[in-house]
Amino acid sequence: MSDKFDIPFKSNMLPKKLQLGSKIKFNCYKGISCFNECCKHADVILTPYDVIRLKDRMNMGSTEFLREYTYPYQMESDGLPGIKLNTDDKGACRFLSEAGCTVYEDRPTACRYYPLGHLAMKPTDKNAEETHYFMIREENCKGHDEDRELTIGEYLQEQGVADYDEMNREWLQILLKKRSGGPAVGRPSDTSLQLFFMCSFDTDRFRRFILSDAFQNSYDLEPSVYEVLKKEDVALMKFGFKLMRQVFFGEKSIPEREKAWEERLEKRKEVFELRRQAEIMRRQKEEDEKYKNDV
Ligand code: SF4
Ligand code: SF4
Repeated sequence: MSDKFDIPFKSNMLPKKLQLGSKIKFNCYKGISCFNECCKHADVILTPYDVIRLKDRMNMGSTEFLREYTYPYQMESDGLPGIKLNTDDKGACRFLSEAGCTVYEDRPTACRYYPLGHLAMKPTDKNAEETHYFMIREENCKGHDEDRELTIGEYLQEQGVADYDEMNREWLQILLKKRSGGPAVGRPSDTSLQLFFMCSFDTDRFRRFILSDAFQNSYDLEPSVYEVLKKEDVALMKFGFKLMRQVFFGEKSIPEREKAWEERLEKRKEVFELRRQAEIMRRQKEEDEKYKNDV
């Protein structure tokens, strides 16, 4: 396999494929002449785990956080909806202050990686995907001129990337599978795009959805599972990944209730019958009134 990326457009990305053990020359610290320059032109894509960390940091619900701090965009040609951090009118990240990043301990994955990018790829002759890294070299970033050499693995460890990678892995696999074509290839329906967005980013709405009668009547889960999902965002996020795999790729790991559809139809029948009876009574009442008036 070639050790170069094929970049079909002008980019700051250096086309050399790097591995965890590859050496890079880079240093970033308070006091460097370009301090905060990168955050003044922020283009930060968020993952589901980034949203959980940031909304907790801001003491907000997910729906409020998404409205206040993010905007939607379409991820590549697959049409899946993604989100990015909002910026001010000049393009600066809204979490940036004179002193630096105000959410540093909870900063998103992309900020931790910078100036590295990473790509998960699944070679056609292999079962598992491979992660490749690449450098992004922007003129205003002086960290590349610093005299410090370290491996990519060391850099990522320094940035506390491991937990984030662990939390993002399954979501990235879902994206990759969508791109490389699972059984349900093609542009997803609007309903599945909405499901993708809700499961990926909006924990508040997703929690209401799985606690609804409609969901609980369709899936066969123990009450203790719902108790955990009620309280824990990370458990809920991981459950969302399972649900997406089930809906998008037919990978059944959440037990479905037997006869859920039949029961739903039966319920609908009951509703129709109640409506029909109410209509009969209304007409009867109208007739009675008419009769009374005629008399
Ligand atoms: S979240 Fe922090 S590190 Fe990331 S762009 Fe904003 S200010 Fe910079
Ligand atoms: S060295 Fe690069 S990453 Fe660090 S503050 Fe400067 S522009 Fe940002």
